[in-house]
Amino acid sequence: MSARILVVEDEPAISDAVSCALREAGYDVNVVADGDSGLEQGRSHEYDLMVLDLLLPGMPGLEVCSRLRAEQSDLPIVMLTARDIECDHVTGLDTGADDYVTKPFSVAELVSRVRSLLRRRELDRASGGAVKSVGGLRLDVARHTASIDGKAVLLTRSEFRLVALLASAPGKPFEREELIRHLWESDFVGDRRAIDVHVSNLRRKLERDPRRPERLLTVRGVGYKLVAT
Ligand code: CA
Repeated sequence: MSARILVVEDEPAISDAVSCALREAGYDVNVVADGDSGLEQGRSHEYDLMVLDLLLPGMPGLEVCSRLRAEQSDLPIVMLTARDIECDHVTGLDTGADDYVTKPFSVAELVSRVRSLLRRRELDRASGGAVKSVGGLRLDVARHTASIDGKAVLLTRSEFRLVALLASAPGKPFEREELIRHLWESDFVGDRRAIDVHVSNLRRKLERDPRRPERLLTVRGVGYKLVAT
């Protein structure tokens, strides 16, 4: 069965181009044109992924995304954002989106992001019931859940994937390029800042004091490492 994708976009030119390209790539596509319908459909468990525009009639895209995450939805979300708004918040990553593309984008690029997110999810599901512990941090790979000292921590799919890679070799520094490749499952290097956004979001969730990280450490000139604490 082909994966079902929900496109939430009010500009017909864009939603037509996107849905046409996704259908050509073999996906089932449904389009809604406002934020409230996006939220309602996103809650329905009928989709494998959502492409979500930032600016929508009714509820804005960021709110749709943060509401779904607040309801513990792990629906993969790719945000469509605008180039002239340059701030991390607007990429949607800090509201729990898994990835974003900046308008104007090529539909080929969007399709490749969608494909890689769906493949990541398959790999995550296939990786079985491994549980990894690094100090007080515990990661349940099958359930995609994390806890610190027994207290549940809600991570987005991308955050989980990033910390799970770091946890596969505690204390080992990982290069940023390596983390980017792992996150996107390809040599296509998207926006490098996305790694830093994910790390700062992870620190807010995993560290006692995100300004003085003790767990997820920066390795100067290299990248990041995870240590037991
Ligand atoms: Ca729009």
